[in-house]
Amino acid sequence: AKAQGRNRYSFFDPMMQAAAQRRQHLANDLHSALAEQQLRVVYQPIVQLATGRVVKAEALVRWQHPQLGLVSPSEFIPIAEETGLIITIGEWVFLQAVRQVKHWRENYCRDFQISVNKSPIQFQDKNLHYPAWPEQLKKLGLPGQSIVVEITEGLLLETDRFIDDKFMAFRDAGLQVALDDFGTGYSSLAYLKKFDIDYLKIDQSFVRNLTAQSDDKVLCEAIIVMAHKLGIKVIAEGVETEGQCGLLAAMGCDYGQGYWFSKPVAPEVFEGLFGRAFLG
Ligand code: C2E
Ligand code: CA
Ligand code: CA
Ligand code: CA
Repeated sequence: AKAQGRNRYSFFDPMMQAAAQRRQHLANDLHSALAEQQLRVVYQPIVQLATGRVVKAEALVRWQHPQLGLVSPSEFIPIAEETGLIITIGEWVFLQAVRQVKHWRENYCRDFQISVNKSPIQFQDKNLHYPAWPEQLKKLGLPGQSIVVEITEGLLLETDRFIDDKFMAFRDAGLQVALDDFGTGYSSLAYLKKFDIDYLKIDQSFVRNLTAQSDDKVLCEAIIVMAHKLGIKVIAEGVETEGQCGLLAAMGCDYGQGYWFSKPVAPEVFEGLFGRAFLG
């Protein structure tokens, strides 16, 4: 009777039930979100700190739900990963980003790059429904360096020949690779060497409280020095203040991304804000 009581309690916990229902609701609706044109891609500038030039952008997906409004990717990407929908969504985001980078390279800045997040689930997909990313770039006449693939440390923990081969195919085609959310995962520093990473993105949790006297400054500085010695460029995420921007630039951090420069915005807005900065 006691065990039954516990069960009943957890089952009828109204908060948990509401959360589970929302999750189920989102999972159902996510299936048709693409077809019903509820997804779109926004772009956040990545600024070269030494020059102030906008040289890259990160593509970030948005879901405008007809009843629930804007749903955060932090909420629906995990659902997309569990249901496998991340494969279709990820390919769609990539295609948008590729078209966008082609346009911006042709009209604004010849060596502009767009970075695209790639979930570990996408790397594991062995059903070749979609042409590989290097092939898609080639078809559009774009060099590999127009795209940076952002991966998280979790992916590198898996020692899988299949993933290693996909990585090598990227490298051979000239695509670049960024290690996202650096400092929050569990992977050993040795992976940095093994996988031949081009960029390391310092997680925003290290940047948020960055001041001249903070421990976070010591950590950022150490990451920057180490990365540079390995030939890796550094992007700081979550730069929100002029002070953080100045400290990072003084430490030799290569690039900054964050609300201090701009929130992620629609492509037309991006052009309005940074069209001039591209050309400069
Ligand atoms: P992420 O890849 O680490 O992306 C950076 C997140 O930080 C974005 O949140 C961005 O809007 C936010 N951000 C940027 N600057 C600042 C700042 O100055 N302050 C603060 N507080 N936040 C800032 P967003 O767009 O909500 O995305 C959340 C996460 O969802 C992403 O984290 C990424 O893991 C995932 N995600 C988004 N789009 C995609 C996608 O197309 N594919 C995959 N696989 N994951 C995606
Ligand atoms: Ca990212
Ligand atoms: Ca990140
Ligand atoms: Ca993140």
